[in-house]
Amino acid sequence: MKPFRHFNAASLDEALALLTEYGGKACVTAGGTDLLGVLKSEILADYPEAVINLKSIAGLDGIDADAGEMRIGALTTLARIADSPAVKKYCPALGLAAASVGSPELRNMGTIGGNLCQDTRCWYYRYPDMMGGRLPCYRKGEGPCHAVKGDNRYHAVIGARKCYAVCPSDLAIALAALEARVKTIRPAGERTISLVDFYDNLGPVLDPDELVTEIRISAPTANSLQRFVKFRLRESVDFAVVSAAAVLDVAGGVCRDARIVLGAVAPVPYRAKAAEEVVRGNLLDKRQAELATKAVLKDARPMSSNAYKIEIAKSLVKRVLRPQENAESKALIDTAAQAR
Ligand SMILES: Cc1cc2nc3c(=O)[nH]c(=O)nc-3n(C[C@H](O)[C@H](O)[C@H](O)COP(=O)(O)OP(=O)(O)OC[C@H]3O[C@@H](n4cnc5c(N)ncnc54)[C@H](O)[C@@H]3O)c2cc1C
Repeated sequence: MKPFRHFNAASLDEALALLTEYGGKACVTAGGTDLLGVLKSEILADYPEAVINLKSIAGLDGIDADAGEMRIGALTTLARIADSPAVKKYCPALGLAAASVGSPELRNMGTIGGNLCQDTRCWYYRYPDMMGGRLPCYRKGEGPCHAVKGDNRYHAVIGARKCYAVCPSDLAIALAALEARVKTIRPAGERTISLVDFYDNLGPVLDPDELVTEIRISAPTANSLQRFVKFRLRESVDFAVVSAAAVLDVAGGVCRDARIVLGAVAPVPYRAKAAEEVVRGNLLDKRQAELATKAVLKDARPMSSNAYKIEIAKSLVKRVLRPQENAESKALIDTAAQAR
């Protein structure tokens, strides 16, 4: 790792002042579970001269809710979110997503702000500098996306342009289905960004001197059913090969509203609108779930080695719509239901 200055910011103002002082040559850290790996592998286009610790700022962690919305501070750990009775009651899809992240160590250290802002896991982008030299790529601003001609089994099947890396955050998928909002601060002031607008093809749309301070989630409707399922290769610790989150409004067996979001298929959380349209306004029975499954990713343009992701996505959408037909998702959903 190269040397850098380290600051424990005492306040948001101090963190912003330091970011301004270093003019794009500083970055912030929360749990450090992603950033330290990024720094060790020296993959950033510009190595930071300073790292500003946000965990020294009081009051940026915590979960509170009233009848209208839940607010989760950016420094709240994933473990706390996964274990929170309020989250299990208010937004169980988010609790399930947090519980599915990495290992207990990662969940104890990693924060919701860091999870949303983590760098992509593309294995070409992450290729460590010290192993045979730097591997330039489009995302590093220095060349093509190697996934196009290379091994693209974990890359995007839809919506990518020039860089085919997928959004790695599980929490982003649940939060997109929950239509969450991300509150930020920068020297120019505060702003609120809808989670669906929080990412573009290359990751979070934050300015270099902008910090996430809070996530806001509206209260669920009385008939809200929420689900999150994830397919990964290692059950113990792994990123999603594909994930799916659903927030459904079901009354008398009829799906009055549906938001279905897929993870790890696109550079951003991908809203499966065609599937939503199939179930919206209809009895949520086996036939309708099958029809919705057929609509999933029908416009996808898979690369040479990742068409299999489309089949997994279809299967996950069936699970979030008809969990009773799948033992694994039933177990997950039962856990959430018991906690409610
Ligand atoms: C082995 C392993 C397995 C993993 N598995 C999963 C998984 O299954 N699912 C999943 O979703 N993730 C997974 N992760 C990623 C993990 O969840 C993230 O590393 C973690 O959530 C990041 O949180 P952090 O607080 O440690 O962020 P940090 O490492 O401190 O920061 C990450 C990035 O976010 C920026 N950042 C942090 N906080 C803020 C803020 N408040 N405002 C603006 N920018 C900020 C930092 O500058 C940095 O660029 C895994 C990671 C590892 C190493």
